[in-house]
Amino acid sequence: MDNRVFKTNTACALYETRACAILNAQSCENCPAAQTEGTKASKTVANYLDLFESLLPEDGVARLFESSECTLCKTEPKGKCSTFAIIDFGHNEPEDLQMRKLFQKNRVGFMLPLQFACCGKCRRRILLLEYLPALGVIIGLTPLIPFFVNPHWMQNLRAVASWFPLVLAVAAIGIGYLAGKLLVKSLKKRFSGLMYWNLMEHPVTQELIAKGWFPLFEEKRTVTPVFTKKRIVYGLGNARSSAYLRKNPENREKAD
Ligand SMILES: [Zn+2]
Repeated sequence: MDNRVFKTNTACALYETRACAILNAQSCENCPAAQTEGTKASKTVANYLDLFESLLPEDGVARLFESSECTLCKTEPKGKCSTFAIIDFGHNEPEDLQMRKLFQKNRVGFMLPLQFACCGKCRRRILLLEYLPALGVIIGLTPLIPFFVNPHWMQNLRAVASWFPLVLAVAAIGIGYLAGKLLVKSLKKRFSGLMYWNLMEHPVTQELIAKGWFPLFEEKRTVTPVFTKKRIVYGLGNARSSAYLRKNPENREKAD
């Protein structure tokens, strides 16, 4: 991925400031501060960023994606980071930036993708828990497929009663789904000792929830992440921890 940053607008009041680093735009052209003209407006952006930072956990969230080790493994040695598990969070603040997106219950001001460095094993376990019930249905239905595609065998089933094939299919779906669900339940217990399979229970997620953040698209107790090989590098909340540590060069105009 091209990580080069094109910051060319030296006239911007936020140019080379900590706020600019936290805003983390790829270029001045697509920076949210660019849509606000003048020093005063840029200061408003800086105020929003102060609020944003105050809503982050004390150690920020960059530690989750900067880690070379899996942040979901509980056992040592932790797996190597090979993918990122991402959940989008939203916050009601700031109120004057709030909008309601389609399918969202809460009005959202700030948005923050939480990007967990994840190893291959943890990814497979999360996906297994997600897809086992559906897999159970497929496995339950598979033995019936020859009966349904062979007209002669189908006729034999119908000979029992006209509704018999349908009941058989529904029973196979039900049994497969239930078996999958039961297996998920026992696997969750097993996996709990090995990893945070439920990202909502991860300590950093808990810190965020305590500060008023909520998952953007699902409001269940378990939220399934999206997996991606390369993390999101630009945008608010995706800046490296060095951006937050960076010293604010005391309002440039004062220095000028
Ligand atoms: Zn792991």
